[in-house]
Amino acid sequence: MAMKRNWRSLLAKDVTTVPTGFTSLVAPVVRGSTTLFKSAGDAIEHWDPRERPYSYGLHGTPTTLELAERIAVLEGSFGTFLTPSGQAAIAAICVAMLNAGDHVLLPDSAYGPSKAFVSEVLGRFDVEFSLYPPLADADIVSHFRANTKLIWCESPGSVTMEVQDVPAIVRLAHDRSIVVALDNTYAAGVLFDAFAAGVDLSMQALTKYMSGHSDVFLASLSVANDSLYQQIGRTLARFGMAVSPDDCSLALRGMQTLAVRLDAIERSALTVARWLADRPEVEQVWHPALPGCPGHESWVRDFSGSSGVFSILLRSDIPSAAVLRFVDGLSLFKTGFSWGGVTSLAIPYLALRRSEDRDNRNIVRLHVGLEPVDDLVEDLAQALATLN
Ligand SMILES: *Cc1c(COP(=O)(O)O)cnc(C)c1O
Repeated sequence: MAMKRNWRSLLAKDVTTVPTGFTSLVAPVVRGSTTLFKSAGDAIEHWDPRERPYSYGLHGTPTTLELAERIAVLEGSFGTFLTPSGQAAIAAICVAMLNAGDHVLLPDSAYGPSKAFVSEVLGRFDVEFSLYPPLADADIVSHFRANTKLIWCESPGSVTMEVQDVPAIVRLAHDRSIVVALDNTYAAGVLFDAFAAGVDLSMQALTKYMSGHSDVFLASLSVANDSLYQQIGRTLARFGMAVSPDDCSLALRGMQTLAVRLDAIERSALTVARWLADRPEVEQVWHPALPGCPGHESWVRDFSGSSGVFSILLRSDIPSAAVLRFVDGLSLFKTGFSWGGVTSLAIPYLALRRSEDRDNRNIVRLHVGLEPVDDLVEDLAQALATLN
């Protein structure tokens, strides 16, 4: 009689392998913290899957590595890492590239939490930080210090939408061996070719367009060469920044429809922006593809398309309370942070702080989603009517 195994042992299945002979259109979700070695002598952990594939789930499973590889191909990077959010990618780049005593430059128009990370967290570790005007052009060299090691670009900028001359900033920075990092979230990593522009590090919040359905936090962090690959990879491993294979599978699914979503969003956003530009309540429309946007010439030269985020400046004689009433009066446009999903969003910025001399009261940032554009225009029209 065969010896019966304790049922408790039967419950804990020893080894699960990815089955062969099953092919589908879908990238499988492969989870795993412990990954098994063939023998005791093989049990060596390494963060770099190119060195040692699958030594510990923290450094990648087939699902996470598949997403990273697809983005690397899409962006033409030397290599791409994933982080749990866009903010985590920004923090990781700063920590990997900066030492105590170094100086980092951010555009005045940078994503607010990225400025907050540098001033609040890195400030405690003796990293100096200052802001530069996003359209500084050649004048940017006056912002360089002897200890400047990293300069951030974000193009277009958050809320005020300045399109930067990234290739020019790269040339001036590289003359002084300053590393250039780009927040390429607006362009979804595809409408602006970061590595053709000479950027060293390019991140995007996959939370936005790539995932595309407002249900995931995730980011990619792409590098231009092997030495940056080593520097970033080590830092991420030491931080323990793992990403979830489930989240990665959602981003892989989003990727399949990114092109059609972006095309539809671009068309609708342009229609809405042009309509708003003709309205008497609207003083300015900052949409990168429209001539009124600061840095529009750089967009024409460097971008292959526009996406769905832009801002409007309502007339300065409209009181703040009325701006809030306008946003609350919208029904298809919801109010909330983040963007890039199927739902249109509106969010007011009534007292945005920028060092440049611009009137930044009464800003409303819009994200145009996938609703029928005529309905969106009608929604804006009825809400604008409350201002009169
Ligand atoms: C949303 C956003 C981020 C941060 O992404 P999260 O995944 O929400 O942390 C970074 N940069 C820009 C420009 C963004 O719009």
